[in-house]
Amino acid sequence: MKVALLEIKNPGDSKDFNGGFGTTFEIGRSYKSKILAFVRRNLEKNPTLSYAYISAIFKKYGHKVDYYENKLPNLKGYDLCLMHVSLIRHNEETKLISALKEKKQCRIGVYGPLATVQPELFYRSDLVIIGEPEEAIINMAKSGIIKRGRINSQPINDLDQLPFPDWSIFLLKDFSLSPLISAKPAIFVHASRGCPYGCNYCPYKVFGTYRQRKPENVVKELKHLKEKYHIKSFYFRDPTFSIGEKRIEELANLIIKEKLNLKWGCETRVDLLTAPLLKLLYSSGLRCVKLGVESTDHQLLNSYGRKPPQIKKQEEIVKFCKKTGIKVVAFYIIGIPNDTRESILSTIKYSHKLNTSFANFTICTPIPGTYFYNNIKGKIFEKNLNKFDNFHVVFNHKHLSKEEIYSLQEKAITSYYFRVRYIGRYLLDKLAERE
Ligand code: SF4
Repeated sequence: MKVALLEIKNPGDSKDFNGGFGTTFEIGRSYKSKILAFVRRNLEKNPTLSYAYISAIFKKYGHKVDYYENKLPNLKGYDLCLMHVSLIRHNEETKLISALKEKKQCRIGVYGPLATVQPELFYRSDLVIIGEPEEAIINMAKSGIIKRGRINSQPINDLDQLPFPDWSIFLLKDFSLSPLISAKPAIFVHASRGCPYGCNYCPYKVFGTYRQRKPENVVKELKHLKEKYHIKSFYFRDPTFSIGEKRIEELANLIIKEKLNLKWGCETRVDLLTAPLLKLLYSSGLRCVKLGVESTDHQLLNSYGRKPPQIKKQEEIVKFCKKTGIKVVAFYIIGIPNDTRESILSTIKYSHKLNTSFANFTICTPIPGTYFYNNIKGKIFEKNLNKFDNFHVVFNHKHLSKEEIYSLQEKAITSYYFRVRYIGRYLLDKLAERE
């Protein structure tokens, strides 16, 4: 079988983030935000992990795989063309599917969380994989049979059974985690999938339950990545990396024992970190951690099933990371239903106090398939799915107009980065990087 993997991507897009629905960076209403958008879009460049897994599975069973980005390829001679469909490039992706269908060269299939929760959007494609794609891909690769219609695919319970992702389909040298970690090439690794926590707006809940890989298997993959692809850094794409302290300690100790000398980052919760654990993780190469602070209004967060950490603990962890040389990226959400101008201003003020290496201020966006989306459906006015990118207002807010939310987001971002204290933080991080 000959398979084409097709992807539409703009600078700044990350298809693996936001539960696989994709994220981008779309602010740019003032000159300050335009500068920040330019920097962001031109530094970070991420490969899409799901394509690397799919390629590895097809190749394991002797099939040929090619990857195409941002083009309408000639699919003559291919048996199947697959796309990871997202929210952020929905219009371009469906247009491309239609164009490919016109050519009638091979079967066109889609997968991803959006295809899973709204398969009807992809009526033009020949097949839609519902669920995490690997089980369906394994069946296809083993049998050589490409079914039509909706194909149910169950989550793989034993993630260690999957082959290591095949990164040879990409031009790896371009991939970078900068400005978080400058060593490149950089790629993504999954040490676990899913998340057991109950935040009801979370897109990571759409695909399957929480599953973890064994530390030995993860380290085996890291060694393979270093030997075969000469990677210098990587990022654990787990929604909540540090679940199970013993397992994480074991993983860090194995990385140290193998002398991998790789820099890495992860995303997790403050309440799953301690100073001794961070110290150990730093020794194994941890240089960046992303943490969800979301809002200073904890009552508001509780009403969305989010259990925020204690403020004191949060501040201690951020302080410890700064002291140790681990960059912190804090996530904040603007325009949660019931947010007020005052609650958002309080969150912005708090972000200045935390003064982390980077801060992400996204607009509250209901993601299809989540409890939050179903609950707020009646208030959603936006029909253009590309706008569900965390940078556009898509539902009628109880207390704030669309313009007010945009203006508060812009204020949050520009007031954060154009501060003397932030510039000091940035320079300190740069100095720490050189050590
Ligand atoms: S802790 Fe993070 S990944 Fe887990 S459910 Fe909450 S938002 Fe999602």
